[in-house]
Amino acid sequence: MLEGSYHAGLVLLSFGVAMLAAYTALGLANRITVGVDGRWYWLVGSGAAMGVGIWAMHFLGMLAFSLPIPMGYDIGLTAFSLGIAVACSTFAFWVVCRQTLPWGRLMLSALLMGLGIASMHYVGMAAMRMSPAIEYAPVPYVGSYVIAIVASAVALWLLHRLRHDRPSERLYRLAAAAVMGLAVCGMHYLGMAAAQFPLGTVCMASNTGLSSGWMATSVTIASLGVLAIASVVAVLDARLESRTSALATSLATANRELIQLALHDTLTKLPNRILLEERLSQALDDAREKPNCFAVIFLDLDGFKAVNDAYGHEVGDALLIEMARRARATLRARDSIARLGGDEFVALVQLSHPAEAAEVAQRLIDTLSRPADVQGHYLVVTASAGIAVHPSDGTDARTLLKNADAAMYHAKRIGRPGFSFFEPSMNAGAQETLQLIQDLRQARERGELELYYQPKFVAPNGPVTGAEALLRWRHPVRGLIAPAVFIPLAERTGQIVPIGEWVIDEACRQLRVWRDAGRRSWRIAVNLSAMQFSHVGLVDSVREALERQGLPGEALILEVTESTAMRDVQASLEVLQRLVALGVAISIDDFGTGYSSLLYLKRLPATELKIDRGFVQQLDNDSEDAAIVSAIIALGQRLNLKVVAEGVETREQQAFLTDLGCDALQGFLLGEPMPVADFDEAHLVDTPAAPPPPVSAPPLPPAMPMMPA
Ligand code: C2E
Ligand code: CA
Ligand code: CA
Repeated sequence: MLEGSYHAGLVLLSFGVAMLAAYTALGLANRITVGVDGRWYWLVGSGAAMGVGIWAMHFLGMLAFSLPIPMGYDIGLTAFSLGIAVACSTFAFWVVCRQTLPWGRLMLSALLMGLGIASMHYVGMAAMRMSPAIEYAPVPYVGSYVIAIVASAVALWLLHRLRHDRPSERLYRLAAAAVMGLAVCGMHYLGMAAAQFPLGTVCMASNTGLSSGWMATSVTIASLGVLAIASVVAVLDARLESRTSALATSLATANRELIQLALHDTLTKLPNRILLEERLSQALDDAREKPNCFAVIFLDLDGFKAVNDAYGHEVGDALLIEMARRARATLRARDSIARLGGDEFVALVQLSHPAEAAEVAQRLIDTLSRPADVQGHYLVVTASAGIAVHPSDGTDARTLLKNADAAMYHAKRIGRPGFSFFEPSMNAGAQETLQLIQDLRQARERGELELYYQPKFVAPNGPVTGAEALLRWRHPVRGLIAPAVFIPLAERTGQIVPIGEWVIDEACRQLRVWRDAGRRSWRIAVNLSAMQFSHVGLVDSVREALERQGLPGEALILEVTESTAMRDVQASLEVLQRLVALGVAISIDDFGTGYSSLLYLKRLPATELKIDRGFVQQLDNDSEDAAIVSAIIALGQRLNLKVVAEGVETREQQAFLTDLGCDALQGFLLGEPMPVADFDEAHLVDTPAAPPPPVSAPPLPPAMPMMPA
């Protein structure tokens, strides 16, 4: 037998080429299913890469092997062996890239492919055209077939598993390529070990066929080709991969942000109404499976608008964020709190018994009512809450929310910070409100509106300087309705504008009558609401009313509340200046309840400050209010404003306010608001009314308010 020998470097190289081919082929294979359009190109490409790789490996192995005789390779058979390698690799990829790979199909394909690879090997051997023919030792010969088939099975299975190769599986793919490369080489070298070359063997292809040199060149080209394809694929792969992963990350981020945006309030980051309703319906579903009770608590801040008006939206927003944070911190993790917009929040709270809702509501109110330091401002708002409990107050989301809302309004109407549980009568209230809004539309045409007049006195007890006009609605069914009930409705529906014009007109008409009756110095005060104040037609309608009655501007005092004037200081300033240009006097009403900045107050062309009746009423028993009132009076005097105290009900108040330097007084003690006939009787017929002097005489019985609260 001829003794063959191996060139170690080339053997190693053959292993390398086999693995590289496998790695490339695996990379290409996952494109077959990914790129649907170029599917066939990828299939043929992978088949060719793998086939060329196997083939190059085979001939590298052959080159590594040398016999002590001249060698050559028959071109036709060599080309044929390459064809076999490419064909069976392509077939293999076609098999593995189907959706499924049942065991039966895997086995059959492995058999075909193994036979293919082995055939390629033995056709390649035959290309040497040895004479006498090569003898093969049976055991390693059969073994090489077995290895080819088993290696094919493993390779096909791996290819199938890895056809959706992901970046994270890169290492896995490397390992698979190593296994495949080793298997192909194993088959080859076992096959070589089986080959026996009898002494005197001549290589018939050494003259006519490819010389070893040519063979080395073509194998090198083939190997380089595989390498080139491998690197191109690798680069493409890396690019695509980083692009896809970048895209995937940004998509995921965008998705998260979208969900956050769609379901959360952008300012406070609390859930919004949509998410609240979702959680509510989840809670309802849970309750159907396992009866339990939970509460919907509707919260509304009191005094938030004043903060917004006085300090602007930025401070208002910061306050809302702080309130949201506090409310969230008060609740347990399994409870929800959402912001519905404005200063309205809704909590969804799981309960072990209905009464627990009261504790939670009180806790929320307490935490929201604590003073807040926002951007250096010391702010105090309070909260009102309405509670609807499942299932007694509703068994669907809408009803529960609606009823909690109604309960909240009820709590607000009581006037103190606090909460109310829902009661069915509260919905009747909402129904009534709707009816009232409708009735109000016709009230003016039907002549149901009238003005009451409350006298204003020089402190301490006269003479009368005029009156404040206070609106009343004589409802055909409900009788006299107080402005606190219907003016907010008129504001909400915009009807306050025509109604307010009517008030100015009517008040001017009445003043004309009084002036004609000899009260030439009397002036009339009319209240303006925020919406009227910002209405473009205001100045014109005031001028027209004065002209119609032939009154000078000074005859009219317009009362604007502090928070209305401070809402948009620049705009207020313009309107006020145009009114002042008409000669009209401006009074800042309810002074002390808002958050006026002294700086702005100084710039407003006001002539009068009205101390809010809340302070006046606390005078007797609260030294803090006394301090505030004396500060307001001192402030008014410094700013050259007339200071008027309203809501004077007792002699003590009358005396105290006079002592502090109030210019004018108004209140039940001196005269309640009354219809014009009563007013005339009291103040027009004889000399100005002179109530008893402010001495420590026995106090009068408490005055009865005219209106039901
Ligand atoms: P206001 O401008 O602060 O009016 C004073 C309110 O205090 C009046 O309530 C008056 O009846 C009440 N009052 C007067 N003296 C006393 C007193 O000694 N003790 C107590 N406890 N209260 C006293 P009224 O008439 O119910 O008006 C309530 C509010 O409705 C007014 O508050 C004003 O803001 C608004 N309003 C009244 N008429 C009009 C109007 O024609 N237009 C606009 N926009 N608002 C009006
Ligand atoms: Ca007023
Ligand atoms: Ca007032």
